[in-house]
Amino acid sequence: MAANAIRADRGTSMIDRLRPVSAVSSSCKICGGAAELYGVVDFHKSCAEAQGVRLPLSGVPIYYRRCKTCAFLFTDAFDDWDHDQFKRFIYNDGYLVVDSDYVSARPRANAEAVARLWDAHKAETRVLDYGGGNDVFCAVLRERGFPVALTYDPMTPEYARRPEGKFDLVTCFETLEHMPDPAAGIALVLEHVAEPGLVFYSTLAQPADFEKYGLTWWYVGPRNGHVSIFSKRALTLAWGRYGYRTVSFNDDVHLAFRTLPSFLAHLSKIAEALPLPS
Ligand SMILES: [Zn+2]
Repeated sequence: MAANAIRADRGTSMIDRLRPVSAVSSSCKICGGAAELYGVVDFHKSCAEAQGVRLPLSGVPIYYRRCKTCAFLFTDAFDDWDHDQFKRFIYNDGYLVVDSDYVSARPRANAEAVARLWDAHKAETRVLDYGGGNDVFCAVLRERGFPVALTYDPMTPEYARRPEGKFDLVTCFETLEHMPDPAAGIALVLEHVAEPGLVFYSTLAQPADFEKYGLTWWYVGPRNGHVSIFSKRALTLAWGRYGYRTVSFNDDVHLAFRTLPSFLAHLSKIAEALPLPS
């Protein structure tokens, strides 16, 4: 069934729906800097290639641009798609072939980490998981005694209703890289964050030696819907636009906040060392 879904993705019907590529420089979606064409990969390039899963070539070229100022890497090929086209061509039955951890392994591991970090404060922490896909992450938190842990994901019908109110902790795992308009996407995430409040998020930022790999880097996966690949600088600018600082634990796991909640005050030394972009 998955193989059929992948085959069904191929063909000109999809090409016809892509934004035509232009060799003219365009504006970076994060900082407005000049973003030239950087490279091109087949639509079926996926993150699963890192595990040896290689889909047949689709024949659909996907061009990426990279900003000269902030190094944000992005494609605008899908920028004219609506929700239904993303569901049809990317988030379909074939998606699980290229992101097999999506269903259970990753959300469980993330929930264990959050439950550990927030254990002493869980009674007063309202949690929203943004872009969670399914409710596995929040179910684990509720089992661990978090009184409020809700899932919101516009791509999943059962969880597509926007929640009411603000949340002390908004988690957002492996989501930013899927956003065709990440600045607008971050603004939507921030609508749900209390003040003080935290966003605990993951997206894999380009490594320091990214240039060595270019678009062969495993995380560049259009079949996974990875349309927005951040640099650390691009993350700083993207959150900074809304007055938020971001602190990275590593290339993948980050916090964003305006004011640190008191129980995380020990992190402020790290935060103060970071410039807040104007
Ligand atoms: Zn930029």
